[in-house]
Amino acid sequence: MSVVGFDVGNNTCIIAAAKPGAGIEALLNEESKREIPASISFSEKQRLIGSSSSPLLYPSSTFSQIKQLILAHPKYRHRLSYLNRKITLTPTHLLAMLLSHLKIIAERSLKSPVSDCVLSLPSYASDLARRSYLNAAHIAGLNPLLFIHDTTATALIYGIYKTDYPDDKLHVVFIDIGHSDTQVSVVAFEPGGMHVLSHASDPLLGGRDFDQILFKHFAEQFKDRYKIDVRSNAKACVRLRAACEKVKKVLSANVEAPISIECLMNDKDVRGFIKREEFEKLASGLLERVLVPCKKALEDAGVGIDTLHSVELVGSGSRIPAIVRILTEFFGKEPGRTLNASESVARGCALQCAKQSPLFKVRRYEVHDAMAYSVGFALEGNKVCTISSDAIFPKGHSFPNLKVLSFDRSSTFRLEAFYVDDNGVPLGATAKISSFLVGPFQTKKPGGNPKVKVRIHLNPYGIAVVGSVLLIEDDTKDTDSSQASCSNSSNTQPAKAVESEISEESEPTVVDSTTTEKLSKRFHLPVTETAFGGMTETGFSGTQELEKQLADQDKLVEQTKEKKNALEAYVYDVRNKLFERYRSFATESEREEISMGLQQTEEWLYSEGDDETETVYSHFLEDLKKLADPVINRYKEEAARAQATRKLLQT
Ligand code: ATP
Ligand code: MG
Repeated sequence: MSVVGFDVGNNTCIIAAAKPGAGIEALLNEESKREIPASISFSEKQRLIGSSSSPLLYPSSTFSQIKQLILAHPKYRHRLSYLNRKITLTPTHLLAMLLSHLKIIAERSLKSPVSDCVLSLPSYASDLARRSYLNAAHIAGLNPLLFIHDTTATALIYGIYKTDYPDDKLHVVFIDIGHSDTQVSVVAFEPGGMHVLSHASDPLLGGRDFDQILFKHFAEQFKDRYKIDVRSNAKACVRLRAACEKVKKVLSANVEAPISIECLMNDKDVRGFIKREEFEKLASGLLERVLVPCKKALEDAGVGIDTLHSVELVGSGSRIPAIVRILTEFFGKEPGRTLNASESVARGCALQCAKQSPLFKVRRYEVHDAMAYSVGFALEGNKVCTISSDAIFPKGHSFPNLKVLSFDRSSTFRLEAFYVDDNGVPLGATAKISSFLVGPFQTKKPGGNPKVKVRIHLNPYGIAVVGSVLLIEDDTKDTDSSQASCSNSSNTQPAKAVESEISEESEPTVVDSTTTEKLSKRFHLPVTETAFGGMTETGFSGTQELEKQLADQDKLVEQTKEKKNALEAYVYDVRNKLFERYRSFATESEREEISMGLQQTEEWLYSEGDDETETVYSHFLEDLKKLADPVINRYKEEAARAQATRKLLQT
């Protein structure tokens, strides 16, 4: 049994698995590749996900940059005509499609079902994005045990193998420059574990922005030189963007790079050329931005450059030499490249998953991940509690975590979670996160001192949720036990948070004392959660059902292809052997009849039989088999007899 970690990047996805006794390895897809393109094409009949997706063949029905959609554009909706119906695609559903595909690859590779897993996501992912990731994983049939931030996963892979500790504590900066974002974290390592001290990021700075600089440059150049407006043609845009990405990569290893695209548009072949120096000048604005999250992460962690043990650079977007140069100048040392730049995140996820599993013996190693933003709770608009910065879970707080709020309340109330940050809210989010309706309830007895204890969790996915609410009420021995109860009344009296108390106690202790005159009664109150902008239960089941239908259709198309291939293979195999090894096992008329059947089937396959159903291919195969199998069986019987005789003679 293996456990799996998934790194869904904006450009590529990586799956890593931890196998008992065999360490961690990145899994290969059907094309023997570890980097699986994070895009989905809708062809006429089926979805093509990962390596089989093709923006060139399906420019208007290919979806890429799904990670960005889910993080930055949660409201994105795309109406698509597919299989004679209109379907609405959401970022959550697109992510679910990708994850389903990754699950299939993992199951094929590991030859066992995959469900428990760990997923990585960027530290700047909003509460809403985390909920979307979780919904997507569940729609895909996965059971994430927890989420881990991208750079934390990388840091875990760094830390778990680290044995030399010149000082008790080492501070290391991790920088991940991917396709869409740049993430930086400062992590403190000790021999038994690691603490993430800070996360900072630029969610809109990655390799694709450098591609875009080149795209703009060449699109303008080709407009002048060849009088073509690439931007007006979807296919030409796809081709030029792909060529620009290639140019960028060539410039990482060479000081100049050519570009040449045949028939880009209006039958025109285009050519161009750029020097690394010119590219760096064009990209100077982007290059300057790389240092911003680095400075912020150090500042938030309270760690000076001179005290850093090392700087580790991952993410393939960081292969641009100018980026390395700028980082080297800033940190006063060249960033280390000891980690596998593209696989470290997925490997960290798999390791974290193994740590959770009883099947693995992983040495004890504490991982304290941190949240990149502050979350507060308000009671019907009034802030319930104040600790240092108005937040119940201030920025840098580790997760999972639990806080218990305690205040007086005698009837239904509402708690609202919101972002507390002077610098704005996470990408794609609104200030309000979610709302939790507690009740309905109404205490009946006056003077019962009703108190509620609210358990607020930052759960293993980094989502802020109200776990449970206890109503605690003083009671006397002779009073009726129904004095405080849940009622259906929606009577919400004006909220008055009497006193705010926050403690990290694990369980509110409520004494049920019969030795005193007073008796405390406690009741669990119902909690109804609404995530602002999140998927409703109906939305979830609708998407789950649609995904099932789409997956069934994909399966049907694959099975049909397999049946067609089997029929083709049978035709060729029998035809090759009919006049050789099967010759003496068939009469002349049998051979003629079979020959005719094979020829007719072949012709049919290349004409009206090119696109038929699985059942039709099956019928054709059965008909052919009725003709040829008797001959084949005679041959096989004879072959078996000959072998048995040989064996007998040998003994
Ligand atoms: P993200 O982490 O932003 O979600 P991702 O994990 O898919 O995205 P990576 O695979 O780390 O991203 O990096 C992909 C980016 O790296 C692409 O923009 C790609 O063009 C760029 N890249 C790959 N190789 C090179 C290279 N040799 N030189 C420059 N850039 C490169
Ligand atoms: Mg990445």
